[in-house]
Amino acid sequence: MQEATPKGWWRRLIERLGLDRSGGTLEDAGPLRVLAAGETDVGRERQRNEDAFLCLPERGLFIVADGLGGEAAGKEASRLGVETLQGILTQASLEAATAINGGLENLLRQAIEAGNQAILDVARANVGWERMGTTVVIAVVRDGVVHLSHVGDSRAYLVRAGKAVSLTRDHSTVMALVDAGYLTPKQARTHPLRNELSQCLGVDERLKPSYAALRLNPGDRIVLCTDGLWDMVTDEKLAQLVLRYADPDDAVRALIAAANEAGGYDNITVIVIKAEAEEPEESHARSQESEAITDPHFLVGEVPNSRGPRDWTERLRRPQEEKREEQEIKV
Ligand code: CA
Repeated sequence: MQEATPKGWWRRLIERLGLDRSGGTLEDAGPLRVLAAGETDVGRERQRNEDAFLCLPERGLFIVADGLGGEAAGKEASRLGVETLQGILTQASLEAATAINGGLENLLRQAIEAGNQAILDVARANVGWERMGTTVVIAVVRDGVVHLSHVGDSRAYLVRAGKAVSLTRDHSTVMALVDAGYLTPKQARTHPLRNELSQCLGVDERLKPSYAALRLNPGDRIVLCTDGLWDMVTDEKLAQLVLRYADPDDAVRALIAAANEAGGYDNITVIVIKAEAEEPEESHARSQESEAITDPHFLVGEVPNSRGPRDWTERLRRPQEEKREEQEIKV
């Protein structure tokens, strides 16, 4: 089924949040810095973790991927997807693309297409891996603007003014049915086809990644996550937990714990990105900031490469689990 993003939905979201599809004409709200943390958890039901993520605050690059295909294929698909994207979305290519109007949208699309091709090539070369694929949601933060692109049902939420709103529209059968008015969002959560994607990386040569850009305000959080989080935790709970903690690391831990407490039926992967004003006005805020600086890998742009690629590859880790038949997710 083709993606059916309703124009009205986008228009309303653009009006509510100041989204701009061009990514190049957004008004600057002042210097921001970004703190971020990410983690993945196998959950309580699955034997393996097929999710992957990349959290590179110094590059302003954040990726979450949810592998599909069973056996080792799903795990390989999400790993390969993230690795391919990481190789293309380098500091240099991101900087060059930022200088061109619409450049980041093009670069993100090219990166997703390359990830798609890499997975298709592996799937064709390995018997039994024909069904491998992965979702992907990417956030690139440049000059106070977050650029989002995604394929599949991993999501990017904006948490602002006490509320969480999904900035991504799932590429899924049930979302198309919701958009067409056949299902309510509540019915979609328990529908038998709720896990069926209308597109993902590694299945078809043709892809239609979605793209949006949003000017960040101080205090905004962007949450990237797989369905192992959003299927288990309501938007209200997500906002509440994210806002409870100043440190994104604590927020990530709390969100994963909440998904596990709700059952943990699937792998859970979360990245929390927090935008802060560059120069806090109050002295207590300043002391919090200096605390954050002692942990350089949570700070963008100010600590040159103190954590190299090798360290970050380790963050892609997923437990080496024994093979087991996938269990049907019970909601
Ligand atoms: Ca999942």
